[in-house]
Amino acid sequence: MLVNLTKILPAARRGNYAICAFNINNMEIAQGVVNAAVKLNRPVVLQTSQGAIEYAGMEYLAAFGHIAAETHQKLPIVLHLDHGTDEVLVERTIKSGWYSSVMIDASRNPFSKNISITRRIVALAHARGMSVEAELGPILGIEDQVRVSRAEAAFTDPAQVKKFVAETKCDALAVSVGTAHGPVKYAPGEKPSLDFKRIAAIAAATKIPLVLHGASSVPHDVILELHEQCSRLGDCARVHDAVGVPEAQIKKAIGFGISKINIDTDVRIAFTAAVRKTLLNDSQLIDPRKILGPARDAVEKLVERKIRLFSGVK
Ligand SMILES: [Zn+2]
Repeated sequence: MLVNLTKILPAARRGNYAICAFNINNMEIAQGVVNAAVKLNRPVVLQTSQGAIEYAGMEYLAAFGHIAAETHQKLPIVLHLDHGTDEVLVERTIKSGWYSSVMIDASRNPFSKNISITRRIVALAHARGMSVEAELGPILGIEDQVRVSRAEAAFTDPAQVKKFVAETKCDALAVSVGTAHGPVKYAPGEKPSLDFKRIAAIAAATKIPLVLHGASSVPHDVILELHEQCSRLGDCARVHDAVGVPEAQIKKAIGFGISKINIDTDVRIAFTAAVRKTLLNDSQLIDPRKILGPARDAVEKLVERKIRLFSGVK
């Protein structure tokens, strides 16, 4: 069943669990995510970045969400635009009729402009029964086309939260509290840590669900799988310094009001490790199904782990 964020996130915030959101770029990732959610019978958010839409096309990606939602009528599934920084694209997404939810990311604008842009998008989306996630305080790192440097990044100011939520009427708020997009979330020597004091202050200022972006953990066993494959190729350097947010810290953040957890990097790592393993084990392979099928299984396994950890699976 296709739902918007307001159908699942408020209950998560009240119940101290979180809904996991995964970026989908192709059929195998979409199916891997949906298979895990169906297996555990937990709601899930399928989200597409602007880069994913550019790569695969909005209609193709949206079709995965719709087919999943129609096939699994009892399972709440959200089809969400991730990090809409391009207002034209956000409007196109809203008017497409495909999506149930969008994120407008105007966080790099001055506070008052962030409010006015977000408020306009919220009005458009709410008129169509869609939910809106907004962002306050640009989150460090690179996510497809959204790049925020260390100089530009800013932690969310709890003093701005109440006014922002009241004036924009957004349904969920992405906060900048010590995570970053991409595989390298912390500088060398920097201790991976979330600012729990800040999360608590933000949560005290608003009852709406809070969203943690860049919440991949780069778990040791998952990155090890990739390292094993790339060491066979002799090119481990590109993810050598990958460091994520410890899963225990994310669990703790959920208790502080975080209700949606965005995960992309860990899926990418699991997917890539599986593709490399398959091709290195059998260099004669030319059947795309045999190459990408194990990657789909790897995504399912990774997503199952995340949903079990964060989504209140008993
Ligand atoms: Zn993000």
